[in-house]
Amino acid sequence: MVQASVKKTSVRLNQKLAIFGGTPTFGDKIYVGRPNIGDRLHLLNRINDILDRKWLSNGGKYVQEFESRIAKILGVKHCIATCNGTVALQIAAKAANLTGEVIVPSFTFIATAHALQWLGLTPVFCDIDPHTHTIDPQMVEKLITRDTSAILGVHVWGQPCNVEALSAIAQRHNLKLIFDAAHAFYSSYQGRAIGNFGQAEVLSFHATKFLNTFEGGAVVTNDDELANSIRLMVNFGFAAGYDNAMSIGTNGKMNEVCAAMGLTGLESLDEFITINHRNYKLYQQELGGIPGVRFFTFNESEKNNYQYIVLEIDEKITQISRDRLMQILHAENILARRYFYPGCHQMEPYRSLFPLSQEQLPYTNCLGERILTLPTGTAIIPEDISKITRIIRFVLEHGLSISQKLS
Ligand SMILES: *Cc1c(COP(=O)(O)O)cnc(C)c1O
Repeated sequence: MVQASVKKTSVRLNQKLAIFGGTPTFGDKIYVGRPNIGDRLHLLNRINDILDRKWLSNGGKYVQEFESRIAKILGVKHCIATCNGTVALQIAAKAANLTGEVIVPSFTFIATAHALQWLGLTPVFCDIDPHTHTIDPQMVEKLITRDTSAILGVHVWGQPCNVEALSAIAQRHNLKLIFDAAHAFYSSYQGRAIGNFGQAEVLSFHATKFLNTFEGGAVVTNDDELANSIRLMVNFGFAAGYDNAMSIGTNGKMNEVCAAMGLTGLESLDEFITINHRNYKLYQQELGGIPGVRFFTFNESEKNNYQYIVLEIDEKITQISRDRLMQILHAENILARRYFYPGCHQMEPYRSLFPLSQEQLPYTNCLGERILTLPTGTAIIPEDISKITRIIRFVLEHGLSISQKLS
């Protein structure tokens, strides 16, 4: 009796899914990574001032103010703002004199690996801890060779790496330690802000990140000498004054309009956090307890920016794959994303350069097949989350019958 009625509703709801010809839940597409935008008038006032003062780049007033605000918020000595996070990674790696091999997770955005490869360094891909999704310190130690110069950890989802273990390994083997903190602005580790660990940490302020400057990034460090080198490198190696290059540099400068956007965003930081946290709790509440689904949770006794809502779908239990679920959501105009699929080692040039790494990264491969990130940020309201989670819940609770119908 119960069985029959469950079947009946599921058939009815099935027909309503857009993938089966129903009307999409959302008329407009809902994206992962819609930008958080602060007070528009404040931004426009700053841009007007920039135009009035006719100073658009080259360490202007707004870049200086942005750098000192970031440094103050993180409690770090130096912040050097850059044109984006990728260039910041390249500059940090070069300024820290990395050579040969650098151990890095494959479960990250491709820019982490590209920044190294671009400099002629060799990224050596390391597996992750399946619980935290960050680089596995035990495997790091096994990958160290005579050519290893550094470890580049990534605070994936803003969840800090095991900084303590990595620092101990770096110290023991005399390696540099740098962090890609592109996701981790505002996160803390053992009560201390991310930005204070290793030789340097790299932030991204890309439009999709928690705090954005349209495009932008920064290197933050407590090392005076390293900060000096980075400052030179960001601006062609030019020292103070005119016409005096001290060393090889590039153009990695942030411009004034980007800094104005960053300063405007910083004014609304508390609001961004509050909304992200509200969204996170709603998703958690609505998606809790589904067999085969892990909702990635953050340690709430630390600071987090909650910029990613992350699900792990175990197809063996849900009987519907992550890719099918994504297809269904896309049909509903919910553009959930597979961050980071495939792992860096499965993309070129790394797939050809390091064919063996395929077998050495079981957790990265497994997670790459399971992960789905959902829309959040200030563009998402609670009603959106109710609609999104209702569909996800329905699909996962009827995994087998929907899978069969789709195949
Ligand atoms: C976004 C991102 C970057 C690159 O930052 P850009 O500012 O886009 O160049 C690097 N690493 C990770 C993990 C990222 O998510």
